[in-house]
Amino acid sequence: MSDSPRPTLVSGGMVVTGNGVERADVLVVDGVVAGIGSFESGHDDAEVIQAEGCYILPGGVDFHTHMDSVFRGSIRTADDFATGTAAAVAGGTTTIVDFCRAEPGESLAAALEQWRWRVAGQQPWADYGVHMVLVQPDEDTLSQLSGLADLGVTSIKMYLAYPGRMMSDDRALLRAMQRAAESDLLVLVHAENGHAIEVLVEDALSAGHTEPAWHGKSRPSVTEAEAVSRAAVLAGLAGARLYVVHVSSAAALSEIERARMAGTNITAETCSHYLVFDDSMLDGVPNEVASRFVCSPPTRALEDQNALWEALSHGSLAVLSSDHCPFALEGEKIVDGDFTHIMNGLPGVEQRLAIAYQGVANGRYSLERMVDFVSTAPARLAGIHPKKGEIAVGSDADLVVLNPHATTVLSAATHHSAADYLPYEGMEVAGRITRVLLRGSTVFVDGSVVPGNRPGTFLHRSTTHQLTGETL
Ligand SMILES: [Zn+2]
Repeated sequence: MSDSPRPTLVSGGMVVTGNGVERADVLVVDGVVAGIGSFESGHDDAEVIQAEGCYILPGGVDFHTHMDSVFRGSIRTADDFATGTAAAVAGGTTTIVDFCRAEPGESLAAALEQWRWRVAGQQPWADYGVHMVLVQPDEDTLSQLSGLADLGVTSIKMYLAYPGRMMSDDRALLRAMQRAAESDLLVLVHAENGHAIEVLVEDALSAGHTEPAWHGKSRPSVTEAEAVSRAAVLAGLAGARLYVVHVSSAAALSEIERARMAGTNITAETCSHYLVFDDSMLDGVPNEVASRFVCSPPTRALEDQNALWEALSHGSLAVLSSDHCPFALEGEKIVDGDFTHIMNGLPGVEQRLAIAYQGVANGRYSLERMVDFVSTAPARLAGIHPKKGEIAVGSDADLVVLNPHATTVLSAATHHSAADYLPYEGMEVAGRITRVLLRGSTVFVDGSVVPGNRPGTFLHRSTTHQLTGETL
């Protein structure tokens, strides 16, 4: 529901809908799109937002963020759901899907209830859904998956990386995929071969290679491709729907395409930082600079970067996410000791649409294609379309006003994240987001979030709206 009883008219913009880009007004009543067309008369009581010369996009849906998350036992990400969603809406993302993990012995329902209570208490600016993280689940945990969709959670996430911390073995993964298939849950997989990487890290350290560049060199793209291939085989055996998170390499992409050709139900995302940074960011630069770019999987070669842009434009990659996971520079990114002590993860929720729009500005793909992979496709996969991810009559009035004639300089000095640095620092990009509405209510305007307006709510996700149109 909108805070305002008055209708809102977003006037004269170029509206991106499922039918293409058209000059139209968007009429918003009670937080929902009530009409797309010409409403010059008959709505004198409406609050008018002038959008001449600007694009009107559906609010972005970021399918992969880590707000207020604890890693390695005690280190919390820089953003909670307040600052993290302020950053999201400032960057045109009005919905995020984050992660909930049950502690050992805790039920999934209890973990989710606790998660929802904690997140609601942080008063997010954006709407939010959640994936359930499983770590080497036992039979008792697996038996709870059949009840997950009733709680509004329609996906699970498992890790093939990080042995001893997050990793599940193939047996646990296959069992979870079988149960997920029975309940039509999407299975997200972090695809890197954790044991192989563990050996390569040991070898690097014993050879005296301690610099941040060895974070990347000890996780070569074949370790990602192997894990993608294995996850795809297991998903095929289980009849599960597989979604590969943060694809970083051409080798992994090839495995995804091969599995898809073989009939596996597989979709995948890449993340904004893989489109901008390559492995040269880590090599031959001072450690305190290189460590700012450490993430897993690592940034790859330029050829990989080009393959990712291509795959986004052709649809082989369905989604662009941020994997927003910032850590403080001192002691978390810049550390004493070798590269294994650097926290893995980068900020990016605020920059995701800006990076995606560079592909439009550079002629790599159309604006409609961009809207699909930043908004519509993730909304479908999340089971929240057509409420989210599309400007259509009856959908939530989550609207982004983007001025294509202006530019934006990305900087930690002006961003809304609590991260104390930005890997994109100083980068000038085409386009500027001037206003963002969540359910008809302005949450961001003229460079600032609206302080008194933090309307974010939990999204009860459905299993029935899938990317390729298959339903239960
Ligand atoms: Zn992640």
